[in-house]
Amino acid sequence: MKTIRIAIDGPASSGKSTVAKILAKKLGYTYLDTGAMYRCATYLALKHGIDLEQVDALLKLLDRYPIAFGKAADGSQTVSLGSEDVTLAIRQNDVTNHVSAVSAIPQVREKLVDEQRRIAAGGAIIMDGRDIGTVVLPDAELKIFLVASVEERAERRFKENQEKGIVTDFEQLKQEIADRDYKDSHRKVSPLKAADDAITFDTTGVSIDGVVDFISEKAEKIIDRG
Ligand code: C5P
Repeated sequence: MKTIRIAIDGPASSGKSTVAKILAKKLGYTYLDTGAMYRCATYLALKHGIDLEQVDALLKLLDRYPIAFGKAADGSQTVSLGSEDVTLAIRQNDVTNHVSAVSAIPQVREKLVDEQRRIAAGGAIIMDGRDIGTVVLPDAELKIFLVASVEERAERRFKENQEKGIVTDFEQLKQEIADRDYKDSHRKVSPLKAADDAITFDTTGVSIDGVVDFISEKAEKIIDRG
């Protein structure tokens, strides 16, 4: 059967990773969370006290501590840097609030995009991020751009954080999401934007199943076409 590459882009907390994981399971595809990779770079910079000008030092740290994805006993995805499990650490507020600055460094993007393309080379992949349809996989067979109101995205992230035991203030969270969207959309290199041939879908008020069904239907049509 024909396999395809699916690019899912969109702003923070638009539901990309939740639906991408479900779709990957359904189709038997590999799922790649590219945001986790930028979070790993940010975690390394913070942990080693690297500032944004020390680009070479950061690139060396990324070589020394390779990013790897694994599976926990409950089937959920784990992320490690070298031998350190950073699954939870990369979701903490300090990483979240610095990630847009680190992900705007062109050399960091170049390095991580190379890795992302290498992982995607085998096909049968679903990747989520900000620049997958525009830069990483410009010839992906299916490109989806998910959007949702800031209010709803803040509510989703608030609930997620609660479940993970991360303490957050709702209004602050909303502001942080809006700030991150602004920075991600206005950076010089690979800004967050829909590819010309992407299908934009507003998930405000739509259930996870509704979003999964919408994308599945599009994917199945392309796969069936052979
Ligand atoms: O998807 P997530 O919210 O975990 O992404 C964290 C950050 O990583 C984004 O706010 C953005 O700055 C950066 N990112 C990016 N390009 C991607 C994926 C994420 O710049 N493809």
